[in-house]
Amino acid sequence: MSNRQPIVAGNWKMNGSQAESAKLLAGLKQGLAAVSKAQVVVCPPFILVPLAARELAGTKAAWGAQNLDTHKSGAYTGEVSGPMLKDFGCSYVIIGHSERRALYGESDQLVADKFKAAQDAGLIPILCVGELLAEREANQTESVVARQLDAVVNLAGVAALANSVIAYEPVWAIGTGKTATPQQAQDVHKFIRARVAAKDAKVAEGLRILYGGSMKAANAKELIAQPDIDGGLIGGASLVADEFLAICQAAN
Ligand code: PEP
Repeated sequence: MSNRQPIVAGNWKMNGSQAESAKLLAGLKQGLAAVSKAQVVVCPPFILVPLAARELAGTKAAWGAQNLDTHKSGAYTGEVSGPMLKDFGCSYVIIGHSERRALYGESDQLVADKFKAAQDAGLIPILCVGELLAEREANQTESVVARQLDAVVNLAGVAALANSVIAYEPVWAIGTGKTATPQQAQDVHKFIRARVAAKDAKVAEGLRILYGGSMKAANAKELIAQPDIDGGLIGGASLVADEFLAICQAAN
């Protein structure tokens, strides 16, 4: 048993009206008292961050965003900066989600720059890494994850990981209903921790590594029970209060 506090983070992606989101947040609030151990994090779309901040202030849950720009302010039309997120009480920000990498062309280098911008603004980055199905089938899972991780370590230094969270999200498991088996996930989590440990054993021991990819109440317990899995990054199931809360309970 490690002493790492589990984290369950909800990635709402681009979902939710004001009314739907208020209802979801109210449902979450009701169930939070029963979540004794896990840190609960909610990451709505930017425009719903103020609503989450209002609803979750004073509760055990933290909130964050799904992306940020590398600049602090200025002529960057359509972007949102780390200091702006901080101003709205965000504690966390998801960095390098596979949808950002695949649909918006975010390179390992840009993801590393965003990681650093997040930390410079006092936010805790949730750094997503993970392989495509073709890469897994070509036995490239470890080399892909290593490349994504090393880009951040090379820029920010291994010590910077102490104030971050990693999410291993096999791309073939995201939003597909296909979950990695607990053993498949554990193998990659162990690999990530060992790679960090080769540079700094203490940072590796304290590092929270979340699993993401079709995690739901029915499979969360078995996944989180693995020695190197410290919680989950939840997409679809984070849009249903009872389902998300059940995952939080599983992490307790
Ligand atoms: C995600 O988007 O980070 C994710 C894990 O999605 P889902 O849970 O829907 O697979």
